[in-house]
Amino acid sequence: MGFSRAGIGFHYGAEKLGALTIPIGPGNSKRQIWFMKEFKTTAIHILPSYALRLATHVSEMGLDPRRDLSVRMAFVGAEPHTEETRQRIEQTWNIKAYNSYGLSEMCGPGVAFECPEQSGMHLWEDNFLAEIVDPATGMPVDDGACGELVLTSLNRSGTPLLRYRTRDLTRFIPGTCPCGRTHRRIDRIQGRSDDMMIINGVNIFPLQIEQTLLRIPGIGANYLIEIHEENYMDKLHVSVELASDQFQGTLSHLEGLQGRAVAALRDEIGVTPVVRLLEAGNLPAAEGKAVRVIDRRPHAGKEC
Ligand SMILES: [Zn+2]
Repeated sequence: MGFSRAGIGFHYGAEKLGALTIPIGPGNSKRQIWFMKEFKTTAIHILPSYALRLATHVSEMGLDPRRDLSVRMAFVGAEPHTEETRQRIEQTWNIKAYNSYGLSEMCGPGVAFECPEQSGMHLWEDNFLAEIVDPATGMPVDDGACGELVLTSLNRSGTPLLRYRTRDLTRFIPGTCPCGRTHRRIDRIQGRSDDMMIINGVNIFPLQIEQTLLRIPGIGANYLIEIHEENYMDKLHVSVELASDQFQGTLSHLEGLQGRAVAALRDEIGVTPVVRLLEAGNLPAAEGKAVRVIDRRPHAGKEC
């Protein structure tokens, strides 16, 4: 198994199961791939954005992640991502990708995990008392409604946390899981209560933009949202990399793709963005969690 730096608990858990574990953090991608190839790594615990970027490095090394490596599954988490991103990871690597949820303040990865049904993450309710509240009022939301996850640790002997506001937005998935486990499931994280963007008074979450872009064939998974102020109005700029084989297309093909992206985003978020298409590999690569939003308005200057 291979692990990202966040997974100390994960590391020892896997060792307890008898798995050979290779702790390795983001960065020096070619060395990571060499390790994966030589040790015939079967499972990786990885940031979703890095799983897609690592696959491009595999291709650059003349390898096919589906044929030349032994990876069968990935546990992805630690940054909000969409179902479309999961599907891209599964197709690119020809693996199963399971969503995981955790936060350093609790136990790192391992607060909630998907089972083989891949229909929501079972939260370990024997370890955590979970509530979903309205982020504005702190009051519980209706069962199944989206709100902020609040956790209380039940089994910690040191630094217990009581009703800890995670800022992560999710919901309890109603009903029971076909796998038979009875711990309730939380839905994939919809974003953070503090990463909502307000563009000319319209509330927008970065994941709405990701989801829309990934539904357009030919568009890649790496994007950057920038908010500018122009003539006292907010202006949304979205730069997105194309899938690796698309930049060779004709100018009219690229213009068509750009037009479809603008129209799809306008329909989803109610704001017309400026869309810039880039050749794959042209956005700055983050060493850790991907930087998706830069607010360049004079009153903001905050990255999230
Ligand atoms: Zn299940």
